[in-house]
Amino acid sequence: MAFRSGRHFLQIPGPTNVPDRVLRAIDYPTMDHRGPDFGHMGLEIIDGLKYVFQTKQPVVIYPASGTGAWEAALVNCFSPSDKVLMVETGHFASLWQKMAGKLGLQVELIATDWRRGADPAAVEAKLKEDKAHAIKAVCVVHNETSTGATSRIPLVRKAIDAAGHPALFMVDTISSLASIDYRHDEWGVDVTVAGSQKGLMLPPGLSFNAVSEKARKTAQSAKLPKAYWAWDEMIAANKTGYFPYTPATNLLYGLREAIAMLQEETLAGVFARHARHAEATRRAVRAWGLEILCANAEEYSNTLTAVMMPAGQDADALRKTILNAYDMSLGTGLGRLAGKIFRIGHLGDFNDLTLMGTLAGVEMGLALGGVTHKQGGVAAAMAYLTEAAQKQAPGAKLNAV
Ligand SMILES: *Cc1c(COP(=O)(O)O)cnc(C)c1O
Repeated sequence: MAFRSGRHFLQIPGPTNVPDRVLRAIDYPTMDHRGPDFGHMGLEIIDGLKYVFQTKQPVVIYPASGTGAWEAALVNCFSPSDKVLMVETGHFASLWQKMAGKLGLQVELIATDWRRGADPAAVEAKLKEDKAHAIKAVCVVHNETSTGATSRIPLVRKAIDAAGHPALFMVDTISSLASIDYRHDEWGVDVTVAGSQKGLMLPPGLSFNAVSEKARKTAQSAKLPKAYWAWDEMIAANKTGYFPYTPATNLLYGLREAIAMLQEETLAGVFARHARHAEATRRAVRAWGLEILCANAEEYSNTLTAVMMPAGQDADALRKTILNAYDMSLGTGLGRLAGKIFRIGHLGDFNDLTLMGTLAGVEMGLALGGVTHKQGGVAAAMAYLTEAAQKQAPGAKLNAV
């Protein structure tokens, strides 16, 4: 591979760009995970995670990808043949559903057209039909990374309550945590699944379960085999800041730094920044004359935007053109969306100029790749970001927009 100067633009919706502060933190000698210093760090991280998940309840950390935390949520809470209600919002929801099937669960599925989030009314209707309470949990992907649609979790919670149904509520926040507002306690979620490599700005390799009291109680009588993923041993060891098996020590150094960065910016600041970049991106897409895949404006994702290609034009050819010419990676279309869409990731370690570089790469790529489009997306995004900056700094003069 020939040397390419400058920084690669990793604009897929995860893994995201790892900030220098996190890289520096990871680059530190691995310590004894049973030694005296480790416990202090462990406690600091376990406590800091509560801020990120907006919870007072335990957050379990696994040395695993997000898929591991999916499995952990399922094996801790269920017994063979238990029924779960899942909403197929896109590719990731469908993978979680397949996993549930492999583990011997029965999946009741609410299908969608992969252009929107979970419909609270559909969830309520399914639960009302289930008079015998055979459904043990409702599982929803908060931010469907394959489509760029964000489900409205508080409304799904309300739907469960309106049906008077005792099902557990499990939410995958792998591509929304620490980027889009998410409240484990306030929104009454029993198990929140998350991963390290998206909003948390870490390399891949850690994943999480935030666990409610109700879920922990359910886990005590659940019969699916569990050992590595068992919450109880983990939560017991975590009380003193330690882990029942060797944790991913260096990733934990990085996690401590990432939590500190989120606290310095504040969650409110982090969410506002992601909302601003998402809106600027959508303005660019509209100015290009292209269509946003998510069909419901109330469910637009603030961490990625999936863009539909004009009919008959290949998204992966465009992605290849952009990678070759501008050294930028964009997300591919997954599952049934292969070739039809590309995804612009705008999450994690990201500022206005990162976004402008990203959008410039897309607009230049559209021209270079001969994709049918209009110019002016970059200009539209730039005007929006300038306006937003002016609002943040009253008195600043707006020139030439
Ligand atoms: C990335 C992602 C996953 C998969 O996580 P892995 O770390 O690849 O196992 C699952 N769900 C969502 C919503 C994701 O964005």
